[in-house]
Amino acid sequence: MTASRVLVLNSGSSSLKYQLLDMADRSRLAVGLVERIGEENSRLVHERLVDGPPPAAGDAKRETLGPIADHRAALEAVAAELAADGTGLDSPELAAIGHRVVHGGTKFTRPTVIDDEVLAEIRALIPLAPLHNPANVTGIEVARSLRADLPQVAVFDTAFHSTMPEHAARYAIDAATAEKYSVRRYGFHGTSHAYVSRAAAALLGRAPEDVNVIVLHLGNGASASAVRGGVCVETSMGLTPLEGLVMGTRSGDLDPAVVFHLARVGGLSVDEIDSLLNKKSGLLGMCGDNDMREVMRRAGEGDEAAAVAFAAYVHRLKKYIGAYTAVLGRVDAVVFTAGVGENAHQVREAAVEGLAGLGLVLDPQANAVRSARPRLISAEGARVAVAVVPTDEELEIAAQAYELVTR
Ligand code: ADP
Repeated sequence: MTASRVLVLNSGSSSLKYQLLDMADRSRLAVGLVERIGEENSRLVHERLVDGPPPAAGDAKRETLGPIADHRAALEAVAAELAADGTGLDSPELAAIGHRVVHGGTKFTRPTVIDDEVLAEIRALIPLAPLHNPANVTGIEVARSLRADLPQVAVFDTAFHSTMPEHAARYAIDAATAEKYSVRRYGFHGTSHAYVSRAAAALLGRAPEDVNVIVLHLGNGASASAVRGGVCVETSMGLTPLEGLVMGTRSGDLDPAVVFHLARVGGLSVDEIDSLLNKKSGLLGMCGDNDMREVMRRAGEGDEAAAVAFAAYVHRLKKYIGAYTAVLGRVDAVVFTAGVGENAHQVREAAVEGLAGLGLVLDPQANAVRSARPRLISAEGARVAVAVVPTDEELEIAAQAYELVTR
């Protein structure tokens, strides 16, 4: 029996998301989530997705409530759920564990098998991603301790963007200071941009090398990328995921002097400003709601703050579509993905409205259709295709990890 399964782990500061995939047919065997790790009311939701041997634990979807102290306890609980389905961590069919790692710096530009040295380097990148890399490191440490013999692969959110040319990756600041403190644009959501840009080419019936696409990943975090012939040449997030589009709780682009002003005039500390811009800005900051559904509902009822927040969100998107059209020169497709991009036809309509001069025209009926499949929503004969392509970061992580360990 060849081992063809990959367990994908996405460790957050208080959560652990996981999926077990079988790369022989790219099927999903189980998905789940542990949340509120370290609290009294932790919650594990596990779902077995394909029929296997009857699971000893009963139902296909199971929820466990009660304290889970740390990431070790969380992964052990997940391992127990998988074992109950007959797909435990000790299964000979498991080929690898794939870990989502947020920041790979300039060092990691491709998926990497984790050894002590690699782990030390991921740890050394913590100052660049203090909110994300520590949890990623913990997840790796625990998984390695449970299955030391199994290849563990790190797949970096920054990697797809490492092909950005120097003039796109650099900030126009003093070069020695930038170098000393690793200040440059790295970009994030790379796994999604890679997957979606490739899937968009497939939707157009063309090879990735032959198409130029603008990908708009609009989730709670949001980012745009310009991908020329399968290679990322520009993206909207920078040193951290704060730059670029208006997001659920992040401001995206602003004049850096806003920070000085808030410190000098407002007396806010660096940590307070960090929290303000990352957690209390974007849609939430502008109107009190970060969920696009709620923002649209309120705007539809005439709520002024929600309407302005929606308009600001869409205005920023339009600016990036225009900018990336200029960066690419020729655009074959603009592609919407993630929670907002896949579901909010109103956002797609508003973002593309008025851009016929750039070749972008929607088919309103196609745009209104709800579907989980990749689909074209542009009008017949429009110069640039507009598409909706559901992202699948876990599948992409599993595919990259599997490719690496079976090469
Ligand atoms: P994350 O960045 O957390 O992975 P997702 O890609 O799952 O985010 O997107 C989550 C966001 O998608 C939610 O905050 C919500 O604003 C938005 N969303 C989900 N469903 C819809 C919908 N039907 N209409 C509009 N927005 C939606």
